[in-house]
Amino acid sequence: METLTRVNVLNPANPNKATAIFGGEASGILNWNNLAHPHFYTLRQRIRSLFWTANEVDLTQDVKQFANLSKAEQDAFLKIIGLLATLDGPQTVIAMKIADFATDPSVKSIMATIADQESEHNHSYAYVLSSVTTYDKQVESFEMGRSDKVLMKRNERIVEIYNEFATNPTIETVLKAMVYTTLLEGLFFYSGFAFFYNLARHQKMVGTSTMISYINRDELQHGKAISDIFRAALAENPEYNTEEFTEWIYDQFRHSVEQETIWSRYVLADIDGIDLDEMDGYVKYRANKMLRMLGLSEIYPEFIDNPMKWIRAYTDNFDGTKTDFFEQTSRQYVKTSDLNGFDDL
Ligand code: ZN
Ligand code: ZN
Repeated sequence: METLTRVNVLNPANPNKATAIFGGEASGILNWNNLAHPHFYTLRQRIRSLFWTANEVDLTQDVKQFANLSKAEQDAFLKIIGLLATLDGPQTVIAMKIADFATDPSVKSIMATIADQESEHNHSYAYVLSSVTTYDKQVESFEMGRSDKVLMKRNERIVEIYNEFATNPTIETVLKAMVYTTLLEGLFFYSGFAFFYNLARHQKMVGTSTMISYINRDELQHGKAISDIFRAALAENPEYNTEEFTEWIYDQFRHSVEQETIWSRYVLADIDGIDLDEMDGYVKYRANKMLRMLGLSEIYPEFIDNPMKWIRAYTDNFDGTKTDFFEQTSRQYVKTSDLNGFDDL
């Protein structure tokens, strides 16, 4: 299998309009009005429109409330931030790696924007933890990806697929890495997100949940962008569009749903307000959605609709047509400096 090479920065002998997303030719000069895939322009615009920074979110109330959470809630809070930090941190790197091997400069540019947002997501986890807990607990939470057996087991295949692409970049390994990126953006974070929304609906840790909703909104757009780029890359490389590869994708989705279910039952077991069976259904509903985005069929026909009804108020209005729960609170948030505004506590 042919190894993809890192492309030159500028190649004036090549055309401005890329001849392929991966393994093609392009000058490196990017004209958004002359793209091989014109709809990529919209993908970038949608992502750019979501700009935010963690420090904008006022966590003053959360700082007071964290100590009053139950022990189970505090533990889950730290574990889930640990999970998000473990999975979201590498998203910056994978976006940059995909950019490195993409020939199409519009894809490089989209990946640069995604990488920037991922870097802010990672920062936001440290920002939340430094606001609500001690330095030792923060360090422990970030160590989870290297120490928690359940989490490590859950992440095994992601580690394998991402590292395979990093060490052996080919059309096949980049396509597989993009399948996993879609899984991360559209499925792996969602039981974690649900935990924070559940706190918010009980008027707890609303600042953190607001931030999580910004991350959630970003991830949905990233999932859309990556799956669109995946489909276009697959169309350019029809020899990979085989029954075997399709089956591989379905397998990864089934495996990921299993892992997400095991994880959510482990981390959310003692949390009031979350029905774990409903959570299983929600994960399957997310899997169906992401499969559709990749151009495939749903594999959980009983979960075409979202079975976790309460969560719709937090996640279903991200298209901006309706006012969502967090938009109401976010307009009230106070922009604070690096000091977090905690001096008055
Ligand atoms: Zn992220
Ligand atoms: Zn993302």
